Amino acid sequence: MPHYTKTPWTLSVYDLLHRAGEMREHSIEVVVPERLGEGQVAVQAGAVLDLDVRLEGLHDGILVSATVTGTATGECSRCLKPIAEPVEVDIAELFAYDVDEAFDYQVHEDHVDLEPVVRDAVVLSLPFQPVCRPDCPGLDPVTGERVEDIPDYQPREGVDPRWSALAGFQAEAPADTARADTERADTTSKPDESA
Ligand SMILES: [Zn+2]
Repeated sequence: MPHYTKTPWTLSVYDLLHRAGEMREHSIEVVVPERLGEGQVAVQAGAVLDLDVRLEGLHDGILVSATVTGTATGECSRCLKPIAEPVEVDIAELFAYDVDEAFDYQVHEDHVDLEPVVRDAVVLSLPFQPVCRPDCPGLDPVTGERVEDIPDYQPREGVDPRWSALAGFQAEAPADTARADTERADTTSKPDESA
């Protein structure tokens, strides 16, 4: 009987314990219990990750190397269309026997828990601003409609009503400049008056 809580991420290393030089390989499928990632795309709960794992016994612990593949799903950051992104990450971490060692992970009794290692690697690999395609035109800023769904879409170049007063101001600018020139001319004439 194992003395640990078995999860989809735990792997027995019983037959490798303190056997430096021994090696085992496993191909496992993990049905993700909790979503990996908080961004616009994530590996969702219930999705399957394939782990090709190699376990190697070392003197200090067990070296776990794995290639993790799967699919992240979510929304395009520009047009909000559902998208799927392939995930493929490699991990390599030493799980130490000794809890006092300066390693992030430990062998717990006769197993290793891959969850934190896989989670960190997968989450780091996810794009911050995923797009359905590199030239996705996004949403119309006024109506919020998906631009690629609008036939003959014309980008809006009309002037915002709030700027119409400014347009009038610009038209008067040359007159202001002329007045400033006149004032400057008056100033230069003053020394003559005092003389
Ligand atoms: Zn898009």
